Amino acid sequence: MTGLIVQKYGGTSVGTTERIKNVAQRIAEVQRTGKDVMVVVSAMAGETDKLLAMAREFSDHPQHREIDLLLSSGERISAALLTIALNALGCQAVSMTGRQIGLVTDSSHTRARIKHIDASRAKELLNNKHVVVVAGFQGINEQGDVTTLGRGGSDTSAVAVAVALGAERCEIYTDVDGVYTADPNMVADARKLDVVYYEEMLEMASLGAKVLQIRCVEVAKKYKMPLVVRSSYNNEEGTLICEENPSMERPQVSGIMYQKNQSKVTVRGVPDEPGIAAGIFDALAEAAISVDMIIQNVSAEGHADISFTLDTDHLVEAMEVMKKTAHQFKPENLISDSNIAKISIVGEGMRSHSGIASVMFRTLSNENINILMISTSEIRVSCIIESKYTELAVRALHDAFALKTAPTDMDAKAKAEQTKAL
Ligand code: ASP
Ligand code: MG
Repeated sequence: MTGLIVQKYGGTSVGTTERIKNVAQRIAEVQRTGKDVMVVVSAMAGETDKLLAMAREFSDHPQHREIDLLLSSGERISAALLTIALNALGCQAVSMTGRQIGLVTDSSHTRARIKHIDASRAKELLNNKHVVVVAGFQGINEQGDVTTLGRGGSDTSAVAVAVALGAERCEIYTDVDGVYTADPNMVADARKLDVVYYEEMLEMASLGAKVLQIRCVEVAKKYKMPLVVRSSYNNEEGTLICEENPSMERPQVSGIMYQKNQSKVTVRGVPDEPGIAAGIFDALAEAAISVDMIIQNVSAEGHADISFTLDTDHLVEAMEVMKKTAHQFKPENLISDSNIAKISIVGEGMRSHSGIASVMFRTLSNENINILMISTSEIRVSCIIESKYTELAVRALHDAFALKTAPTDMDAKAKAEQTKAL
């Protein structure tokens, strides 16, 4: 639908009835300009966690099917309340659950994937000048059971709905002004980025940027749906997330990311022969533990050390798996270290510039920070360091890549180009 805007409001934006009123006013204003508006909401802040905690009072392993029905109620509450608030302002609005919006998923309860959306009813309502308010995060499977899309899944609902209805863009309203060059709580001169490319945002989301669910960015990229991340508390422009524009010059590095909740496991002195790594990582995969970085060093005496990193949440379990399977690969030693952090630099500009990794390594070395592991992609370099140096590393890198100033207003130019295209 031409002229349709999808707006998604996160949990804090609808966290109180007062805030819901504020959101209703914003929506009513957009509608007054003649645009069609579709809204997707999250549960009120804290609601999903509260419901989960209640379920855990009964069981450590509640059935995922029941969790989905339980959690989907959070989004229904905010959708219905916002709709009531809109109607009270004289703005015609109708709320819809995942089922009513025709959002069909697979059957992987608590982390379902969207299969298709039949939005014909929503389309009709929009054509009759109603605002449609959708409960995010939920759908139904082919049997008609309620499913949810994983934590933060309302972002993905919003993009999927925007794609299904051919919206011109999808705006994600949250409690920050957009995507920053670094965590503004850590780096005082972190700068809001005007434009971030899908690829960069995918890296950032996987490196711990909580501003968007990674699935949401994947869907937006696949269907080239422009995303705008902005605050629901002010009228700042926010960050546009869009396709890369090869004719625009990009800074070498767009952002510095960090993840503290990381641990390293080292399996020391295993035989240097075929099948050892396979055995170790098969055992971990079987326990559904995902690992991040892996390195292997080979020593002269036919032995090797294998180290890998993972989320600290899975460390205890991973160590148990290693101990259980140790008889297969007879390590001399099994060590874990949870005092590590992963520091990453991300930037589309890395594709066309060389020497960026070495600037990163040099910067860390100037601060006397030892690098324990390194991994790279085409547009990212990550280093594992001791976690006590996290802030120092992030600040030093932010300075080294001169991120506090937009070099030549490249961002602004890129944005002007992209907005023309919308
Ligand atoms: N309410 C869900 C959560 O807290 C989904 C969302 O907010 O996007 O994860
Ligand atoms: Mg969220």
